[in-house]
Amino acid sequence: MASSLPILLTLVNSTRVLEDLATLRSFGATGGGAYGHGVSRPALSQTDLDARRWLSKRFQEAGLRDVVIDGMGSVHGHGGSDEAPALLMGSHSDTQPEGGWLDGALGVVYALEAARVLHSSGAPGAWAVANWEDEEGRFSTLTASKAFAEQTSVPWERHCARGSGVTLAEAAASANLTGVPVASWKDRAAGWLGYLEAHIEQGPLLERMNASLGIVSAIVGQVELLVQCHGQQNHAGTTRMRDRRDAALRAMQLGVELDAALHRLCEAEEGDDCSSVWTISSLSGYVSHSTIPGSANLTLQMRSPTQSYLDRMLELAHAIVAKTAAERVRCDAALSRAPSPATMMDAGLRACLLASSRAVATEDSKVLTMHSAALHDAAPLAAVMPSAMLFVPSIGGISHSFDEHTLDEDIALGAKAFVGTASSVLLGLCQPAGMGDAKQEL
Ligand SMILES: [Zn+2]
Repeated sequence: MASSLPILLTLVNSTRVLEDLATLRSFGATGGGAYGHGVSRPALSQTDLDARRWLSKRFQEAGLRDVVIDGMGSVHGHGGSDEAPALLMGSHSDTQPEGGWLDGALGVVYALEAARVLHSSGAPGAWAVANWEDEEGRFSTLTASKAFAEQTSVPWERHCARGSGVTLAEAAASANLTGVPVASWKDRAAGWLGYLEAHIEQGPLLERMNASLGIVSAIVGQVELLVQCHGQQNHAGTTRMRDRRDAALRAMQLGVELDAALHRLCEAEEGDDCSSVWTISSLSGYVSHSTIPGSANLTLQMRSPTQSYLDRMLELAHAIVAKTAAERVRCDAALSRAPSPATMMDAGLRACLLASSRAVATEDSKVLTMHSAALHDAAPLAAVMPSAMLFVPSIGGISHSFDEHTLDEDIALGAKAFVGTASSVLLGLCQPAGMGDAKQEL
């Protein structure tokens, strides 16, 4: 069949997309939530693996070849020529313990629909689909996409599920996965054109702006500090107020100080372009109501789509914590996990997404350019190939909840915009801008 963009777009079947999403929802369906669409499908759970096996069959039916569930549980498939650089598309089908039916699933099913359309139309070039495992962080964060992009220094086998003590390797072994190393972006001899991912927004902006499609400009960077305060455990009745070295009280005061100072910085820097949240993570010196806590931990998480803001937030937080050095309760701060840098999306792929989105939307105002305050698999991928993301609205801005939902008409419009973008790239109607260095070359 001859390939042209109008022909390809007529092949996008939104009924098929909605049916696939409904079937995927049945794996781990809880029936909970405002729409009865709640899903619990944590990474490497039985329901997650059942869903991935079903999806791998759908991948094959879409004309993808060499479909595998790799040692970590990610599903990969390849379409088109082996000789050309491939357009990689995907997202994740694992969910939060109390998750929605579209977070991740939407992007996987859009990528599947794109593969079906490209295959059935005989589109030129090469494409691939990935369904990343453990985006939601049961074992790590963005676990499989980071491993694929070689953006993690910790061997994936050692990642451990929070709370349960089960390692990713043990969970994989009990699921009869091969345990072979995960695929790497370096495995493909002909290389990659870029990476496209669609996702629900997971925030309220599109809905508030009455927009149906969001083009992501950047994904926020994230830094997390563990602040430890050291006081003196002592009797709460006999220790005079002025003599107390109450670590819990100081940690709480410090949380409020950090919050106020970081808010002032964010407000000075273009309003909501950065954010922070602090929580008391433990009061290890708390023994009883009559005991003054001798130590307390505070966790501070900061996010911004602009790396320079993030750097300044981190500097300010360190400076505020350092002032406690001469106080009766001394606190110190250290990174509690590897920071995720703020990630710009590829300008060329963003332009492709914008043109395709405007072509299918009823008005240009229905398409919004925005940053993502949530992390996504596209962030590690952007380190090794040009990457971009498309958002559709979340009703009420709700996600990571059984209440998460998106209107069918928005899902259908997003599918057209996504497949239109993938088709435009493969037909050469628009191009990734490139990495600006040699990283995407082998
Ligand atoms: Zn997600």
